[in-house]
Amino acid sequence: MIPLIFDPIYSQLDLPARHRFPIDKYRTLRDLLLSLGAAPTQFLRPKALRPETLEGTLCADYIGRFVRGELDRQAMRRIGFPWSEQLVKRTFTAVGGTILAGVLSLERGQAINLTGGYHHAFYDYGAGFCIVNDLYLSALNLIQNHGVERVLIFDCDVHQGDGTASLASARDDVFTVSIHGEKNFPFRKQQSDLDVALPQGAGDDVYLCAVEAALEKALSAFRPDAVIYDAGADVHADDDLGHFELSTQGVYQRDQLVLERCSSLDLPVSAVIGGGYQRDMAALSDVHLQLFRAAGVVG
Ligand SMILES: [Zn+2]
Repeated sequence: MIPLIFDPIYSQLDLPARHRFPIDKYRTLRDLLLSLGAAPTQFLRPKALRPETLEGTLCADYIGRFVRGELDRQAMRRIGFPWSEQLVKRTFTAVGGTILAGVLSLERGQAINLTGGYHHAFYDYGAGFCIVNDLYLSALNLIQNHGVERVLIFDCDVHQGDGTASLASARDDVFTVSIHGEKNFPFRKQQSDLDVALPQGAGDDVYLCAVEAALEKALSAFRPDAVIYDAGADVHADDDLGHFELSTQGVYQRDQLVLERCSSLDLPVSAVIGGGYQRDMAALSDVHLQLFRAAGVVG
């Protein structure tokens, strides 16, 4: 059974009415998976990352101010959430979830965190609903504490993984790939090891060809020992922030392509569900569900 990482706090964040972030989606997705036959014992709860362990990796002043609620209004506006104790707890638990998924993928082949993909978080600031970069920290944890030499971060969220690209730019043991909308947020792009920028309106065929080509290029050029996969659902045609025209079947095919290719090479994959912005929770959960169908968690 593929380990699924979830904590109720993923969906526990009081937001103003009409806030565009679909905070309920994590709980809805967990419930959907259970209703479709995922075993309750398959779900594991992560430990929250301790902020003090980030010293030397992320800016201590930024992390300290975030934890204490001392970031200024502009910094919080850039993040997009109002500060609360809940937000701090949620942030470090969610990051702990991606780190746990990374470790479990080494033993079990695959593991999925039911949140994650905070790829707009930089060394000393957050943006776009991202505060602490779980993808980068999980890659570092695998390298520093688990004997992995080379980690590929394969980011298929519709938005560029700018924070990840910036954080990993000086490391040759972390390879960053981002396949994203060329005219979408963030409007000032960073340079990943491999960027694939696609036009608005890209549909299944163009998109899937691009994903396959990028994956093959990264696998042959970098030869990773482990893969962290951001399976953002905001590529879907109905997404409020996406501007791609992917069908639900297209999302499934993408996730299947990535998981199967890595599996054929015996590469461990830890996946995160990434972005997805629809106000209809049932519709949004169905798009995120494709990752779990592709992984064989549910039919
Ligand atoms: Zn996104």
